[in-house]
Amino acid sequence: MDCLFCKMVEREVPTEIVYEDEHVLAFNDINPQAPTHVLIIPKKHIATLNDIEPADLETAGRLQYVAARLAKDKGFAEDGYRVVMNCNELGGQTVYHIHMHLLGGREFTWPAG
Ligand code: AMP
Ligand code: ZN
Repeated sequence: MDCLFCKMVEREVPTEIVYEDEHVLAFNDINPQAPTHVLIIPKKHIATLNDIEPADLETAGRLQYVAARLAKDKGFAEDGYRVVMNCNELGGQTVYHIHMHLLGGREFTWPAG
């Protein structure tokens, strides 16, 4: 399968990994939109949010747990931060392997663009 994020899981593409466990990998975004911009992905290939199945629920929840843990580790959990998952074309998804963006270290506005 020609998937960039699967290649990261397989270490075929260089990445700055910030967290890894059996089911999840987190690495710095190559084009950061905030002082901290980390992508948290399941190791299993799931193309979009629409493709999550009941068997994936624990892993999906783990993405959120890892985001909060990294926010605490990086020291901005109490001040606040933003997590984002883009889905399909109108949602702005460009890599079709689900990923949670963790953005921190600055103030964010709402609604998102
Ligand atoms: P999305 O637009 O939600 O699909 O987000 C895809 C993200 O992947 C973007 O923020 C990109 O900057 C990021 N990205 C693309 N290629 C790489 C790469 N080689 N290493 C790290 N992040 C990447
Ligand atoms: Zn993949």
